[in-house]
Formats: sequence, structure tokens, C-alpha cells
Amino acid sequence: MDYVAKVSSLTGDVSTCHEDRTRAELGCRQLACENADMTAQTLTLTRPDDWHLHVRDGAALASVLPATARQFGRAIIMPNLRPPITTAAQAQAYRERILNVVPPVLTFEPLMTLYLTDNLPPDEVVRAKAAGVVALKLYPAGATTNSDAGVTDIRKTYATLEAMQRAGLLLLVHGEVTDPAIDLFDREAAFIDQVLEPLRRDFPGLKIVFEHITTREAAQYVGSADANLGATITAHHLLYNRNAIFMGGLRPHYYCLPVLKREVHRLALLAAATSGDKRFFLGTDSAPHASQLKEQAVCGAGCYTAPCAMELYAEAFDSVHALNKLEAFASFNGADFYGLPRNIGTMTLVRAPLVVPETLPFADTVIKPLRAGETLAWSLRA
Ligand SMILES: [Zn+2]
Repeated sequence: MDYVAKVSSLTGDVSTCHEDRTRAELGCRQLACENADMTAQTLTLTRPDDWHLHVRDGAALASVLPATARQFGRAIIMPNLRPPITTAAQAQAYRERILNVVPPVLTFEPLMTLYLTDNLPPDEVVRAKAAGVVALKLYPAGATTNSDAGVTDIRKTYATLEAMQRAGLLLLVHGEVTDPAIDLFDREAAFIDQVLEPLRRDFPGLKIVFEHITTREAAQYVGSADANLGATITAHHLLYNRNAIFMGGLRPHYYCLPVLKREVHRLALLAAATSGDKRFFLGTDSAPHASQLKEQAVCGAGCYTAPCAMELYAEAFDSVHALNKLEAFASFNGADFYGLPRNIGTMTLVRAPLVVPETLPFADTVIKPLRAGETLAWSLRA
């Protein structure tokens, strides 16, 4: 049973709001639809997956991993540790460390990735595939946290990309150029022209995920591309524009990369996420940094959204009366794009206030989740 059917049983038929009617009728129907969404008190979804996640390592890993395992069946684990995960053996060992901190009552599967460097050998791709690694991550050198070992020139990686295309491993891209001469807010659009378009031309059989897209240009580019290009979208880029970073003073917990953009871009992302296009799917890019490292002169990029990720996505979809599109975005599209089975089991969100804690334990210190101290409209049913 899909979500529309589930809500219908509670509130009446919401699907009628999409019927083609006269303008007057449509206005009336839209009102009915809004009322239906507003009165939906529960939302039961197939268990979702997070297709872009940072969980760090050691004590920090143990602090943050349970929050994701509580919400998601699987997650694509980013390889940007220090040193980065560049071999199949390292990925397997990291996977074991992750599984060791999954709470015993939960089931959770980490999906491992390697960090693409200028000289990652093609042989390692074959070993990675055999070890269950599903993708390699391209960070342009210097693009974000722990990306110093990233790719300096994409052409240096072509032999490795050919091996990936042959093996059926996906390429995940942090889609920003790092040229300091290019304005920070234009780096994603420049990446499309300078890197992504030539890359797709040269590797038409390579599946690519344009990670955490932030602009109208990226949403349009993915929307008009073929079936081998997908994109993840974070909850914070669906909920906020760049004003959030500067509201009443500089707010480091809203600083992430790619940085939040203008409202027109946020609206384009919301439209893409709720469009029903199967190539857009959920990736939180939850990126934990200790509070004291965020609240200093130079702060790391990243928003920690894992503890209430689905509540935040529900808020974003609810804001445009598109809760009926959340299940495909969160639970189906990513698995289908990766060629993996959809999860068994469900999760239920209820329209009940949730106060986000001011801080949470993080190794031997604390971390501030996004929306700390605020009240969210949706919460996960325990
Ligand atoms: Zn990331």
C-alpha cells in the first residue's frame, strides 16, 4: 500500500488534489489537500536509507552511529577519514568497526566506499568490488573536510574510472571546483561544465551520483540527464537558504559544503525532491564535528542532522504538501539507482512535537545537532 492510500484511510482521498480540474475547483481541491496533509497524524514508510553519511571513527563513531541505525536500514559511508579509506582491506576493517557499534537491538548495514585519489590502482577496484564496496568517492583536492588527498586532475584517474565502469562500481562526486578564483557560490555550476559533463561523455556506462546538490543548475542538469546520473539532496538544503548562516550573527552550525545557497535554489531542490523523478534521493550528508571545533575562528564544514534526519525531511516535504512523495525519495529511489533491493520493514513518523537536545555526547566532548533546542513538528515513533 502506498502512502497516498495510507493517508486516505485516515483523512479522505488526498490524491484528488492532483486531478486536472477548473481553476476554481482546483483551488478548492488544493485546500482539501492541505487539510488532508495537516490532519495526517502518522506517516508509515518502508524503512529508508541514507545514501551519503559521515560517521568518523573511534569514539566519535561510537557516539554518532546509533542515531543513524535507529532511522535507516543502510547508509553509504563516506571514506574521508585521516588517512582516507583507499583500499578494499581498509574498507572491510572500517565496516567491522562500524558494525561493532550498532546497538544489538537494531539492524543496520554500512555500504562501503573508497576514496578516489590521483593514483588509486585499477587493481584495487577489482579487489574492492569483491569485498562488497559499492562506490568510489571523488573529492576535488581541498573541497571539504579531510579532502587534501583528493583528485588534483580528473584525467589522472581515467584508468581507475575505466575499471569502475567495467566492475559496475558507482562514482560519487563532491561536485564543486576548488579554484579560488571562482566564487564560492558558483563552484557547483562550474563543476558541471568543467568536470561532470566531460566525465559523463567519456564514461557513458559509469553510474554517477552528484552528491548533495545545492543549486537550480544542478537539479536541472540531473533532471535532463540520462538514467546513469542521480543526485542526493540533504535535509538542510531543502529547509534553509544562505540567510540561515547569518541570521542575527554568524551561525557556524549552518555552515556546510557545498554552502547553503539563495532561496531560488532551495525551491528548485524542493521541486526536484518532490517531483517523483526517481534519480533524486535522500542523502543526509550528516557530518559530525565537536561543538568546540564548530564554534571557533575557523570552523569545519558540516551539519549534524543524523539524530532527527527523517523528522527534518518530513518537515521539508510537508512544507510543500508532498508527504506522499517522501517514501519514494527516502526508501525506493536510492536503492533502485544503486541496483540494491529495497528494505523490508517500516518506520513510522508521528505529528508530535520533538525537542532537539542542545547537545549530545561526542567522544570525550559534545556535539550540537542542527536545530538544537528547537521543537520539530514530526517525531519518530519509538
Ligand atoms: Zn559529505
